Amino acid sequence: MATKKVGTAGRFGARYGKKHRAKIAEVEKKQRSKHKCPYCSKFKVKRVSAGIWQCKSCKSKFTGKAYEV
Ligand SMILES: [Zn+2]
Repeated sequence: MATKKVGTAGRFGARYGKKHRAKIAEVEKKQRSKHKCPYCSKFKVKRVSAGIWQCKSCKSKFTGKAYEV
């Protein structure tokens, strides 16, 4: 189901409606993509869990927003 326009939200099938799935896909895309580290400014930051981010480059762990830094 990942071939659908909704991307990662395709796992929800036909449920919840198109609008909601599009919203989810948008948020998940953001949270999974690499983010810029505020310390070494490299795009090596990954989301550990809600609000917790870790830089793969300088190993710093810091708090941020739940779905993006
Ligand atoms: Zn860093």
